[in-house]
Amino acid sequence: MNTKVVRIDEQHIDEALIGEAGRIIREGGLVAFPTETVYGLGGDALNPASSKKIYEAKGRPSDNPLIVHIARMEDLPALVRKVPETAKRLAAAFWPGPLTMIMEKSEAVPRETTGGLATVAVRMPSHPIALTFIEAAGGYVAAPSANRSGRPSPTVADYVVEDLDGRIEMILDGGDVELGLESTIVDLTVEPPVILRPGFVTEEELAGVLGQVEQDATLFSDDSGQAPKAPGMKYRHYAPKGELTIVRGAVPAVTDYINAGLAEGRKNNKRTGVIATDETMGTYRADVLRSVGKRTDVNAVARGLYRILREFDDEGVELIYSESFDGNGVSQAVMNRLLKAAGHKMIDV
Ligand code: AMP
Ligand code: MG
Repeated sequence: MNTKVVRIDEQHIDEALIGEAGRIIREGGLVAFPTETVYGLGGDALNPASSKKIYEAKGRPSDNPLIVHIARMEDLPALVRKVPETAKRLAAAFWPGPLTMIMEKSEAVPRETTGGLATVAVRMPSHPIALTFIEAAGGYVAAPSANRSGRPSPTVADYVVEDLDGRIEMILDGGDVELGLESTIVDLTVEPPVILRPGFVTEEELAGVLGQVEQDATLFSDDSGQAPKAPGMKYRHYAPKGELTIVRGAVPAVTDYINAGLAEGRKNNKRTGVIATDETMGTYRADVLRSVGKRTDVNAVARGLYRILREFDDEGVELIYSESFDGNGVSQAVMNRLLKAAGHKMIDV
């Protein structure tokens, strides 16, 4: 298949191109598109054949459900058995935006889209290209991140091309994404609601609207002993090819530990890398040294993380150390993704 890659300017959205992209979806094809979180791989959410194609293109296990993207609040009721009061309040506060809500699905949503589940995940993104595209596509676009399964989610269109060229009909290139990590997922089918994936809409913000919200126990600890609630949580996501270890503790102890590990790696002829911060860049000796930005600017860390993980793959790094990012809010999203990338390998020093 020949994949058509088109550049779209979000300030002056080319209606003819969006119309073409929408038509591809309505005819059962696949289009990758930018959202404010990461690039999505879209297909018609109400067409079981489209969802099957998404799984095939990604190489993703078909019990890992897709998120259904909508562009207008009026389109939500058709997807769910009943719109919960909690969903109305959360939508008023955070939609369009980086929040996905799990609700009981309606008959209209095929099991192929929900990985066999009776629930459906719904999000209304805020990216202008995403919103225009979803409307042109008929209102319901199922979209996981536009990467091959097991690779970091793409934050630029070039990474989508790298992973999916020749496997999908079209890629809408809208430039760099704004946030760089996937949406927060909150399960509204349980009381109190549970966060299944941390993101830019934080636990504190959700609690502000819902009163009470819980975090799934597997978000920050090894999930081997626990049954994961989101099927996607059981897969090792975002994994770089090299062996990644996170080192947590006071900065001098962390840099000492990492430098010792790097020296050992060099002795064993391993190609080494470090995920550092602007503050610590100067202290490491590694083959590939990358800063995710200022330690104090967690949004920059979030935006840069997946790009760096991909660069380590491209550079053939075999042994990777990362500093850790503690704290509340967006730091939790960053740590959750890093822990997954590391297969939960973290050392406290
Ligand atoms: P991605 O689209 O790559 O960000 O992955 C979608 C994530 O949403 C996966 O981790 C899924 O497990 C999760 N998800 C989607 N639908 C549901 C659902 N109905 N119940 C629980 N988790 C879901
Ligand atoms: Mg993904």
